[in-house]
Amino acid sequence: MTKHFTSGRHFLQIPGPTNVPDRVLRAIDRATIDHRSEEFAALGHEVLQGLKAVFRTQQPVVIFPASGTGAWEAALVNTLSPGDQVIMAETGQFATLWKNLALKLGLNVEFLPGDWRHAVDAAQIESRLTADTGHAIRAVCVVHNETSTGVASDIAAVRSAIDKAGHPALLMVDTISSLASIDYRHDEWGVDVTVAGSQKGLMLPPGLSFNAISDKALAASTGAKLPRAYWNWQDMLAANKNGFFPYTPATNLLYGLREALLMLDEEGLANVLARHARHAEATRRAVRGWGLDIVCLQPEAYSNSLTAVMLPDGQDADELRRVILERFNMSLGTGLGKFAGKVFRIGHLGDFNDLTLAGTLAGVEMGLSLAGIPHQNAGVSAALDFLASR
Ligand SMILES: *Cc1c(COP(=O)(O)O)cnc(C)c1O
Repeated sequence: MTKHFTSGRHFLQIPGPTNVPDRVLRAIDRATIDHRSEEFAALGHEVLQGLKAVFRTQQPVVIFPASGTGAWEAALVNTLSPGDQVIMAETGQFATLWKNLALKLGLNVEFLPGDWRHAVDAAQIESRLTADTGHAIRAVCVVHNETSTGVASDIAAVRSAIDKAGHPALLMVDTISSLASIDYRHDEWGVDVTVAGSQKGLMLPPGLSFNAISDKALAASTGAKLPRAYWNWQDMLAANKNGFFPYTPATNLLYGLREALLMLDEEGLANVLARHARHAEATRRAVRGWGLDIVCLQPEAYSNSLTAVMLPDGQDADELRRVILERFNMSLGTGLGKFAGKVFRIGHLGDFNDLTLAGTLAGVEMGLSLAGIPHQNAGVSAALDFLASR
């Protein structure tokens, strides 16, 4: 096959990794420094402190050189012991993967079933915890924004379910595809461990992941018996006090993180969240204009990071994605797990503006025609009308 140059920017409209802004790429493109130097300590202090505003916390946030999966594991191994009972909620593929990881660690997981089209049912969690009068359940783990389905759950409601049950279980939340895209408040919502990653709303390349840690989670970590070495919070926090890490940090990604935090601060977190809400609404109007179905069946749970779209029976979502990539140099998210081949996902998070969205939706609309998928060509116009009206 002959290789040929493709002009213009690739549209990376999968829901993570997201497009990395030029400012962040330039910040990363610098000499790596001695990670035991005073210069490094200043960088370490700056990013560890700066992250707190994004998590909406006063408590420590630790950074692992790892994908988000590492931060999933870190949350569990630092707080729990072999055989501990844990509740998780089946919102979709990512909740399923976190559950599988917990099983491999030897935890006793109760996986509350879901149909992948609805948010976490806080009332179900409340009744499950209320029934657990002996307080055997040690943790409730939920995914804030289920990236396989575009369904976002109400974390404040899960918190209040735990409180109404008067239950001491830890609350752990995966915000890998919601942090810096959808409203999230670690302290106010009483979350014990927040899990996040660099490559989605934070606009960085893959390679960093995070745990925000409550006092209660930190206290649990002193008695937790699951084996842990690389992920040990105590070693990390001790080194972080002086701006350092217990092993070689991903220095260049930290340069990028410093720049990304600066950008979020310049735009203002509230404006960042409002921008994501606006682009999500425009996207949903486009989907309705095409006459296609949004996977999420609860309007109050629509995701602002991505929209998952269900194709009519017999249509191949991966063929549509293939045509769009070949003709328009745009990557869209594939259907995951039981949605494979039936669903495609439009990522509208991170470094994104009205015209990026317009281009993205135009690529989808043209792709639907080229792939011969029955639809109406009224999606882009509906989205543009919405964008132009406010
Ligand atoms: C992307 C994602 C993950 C997986 O993160 P990796 O960086 O691929 O390990 C986990 N949970 C959610 C909600 C995600 O969006």
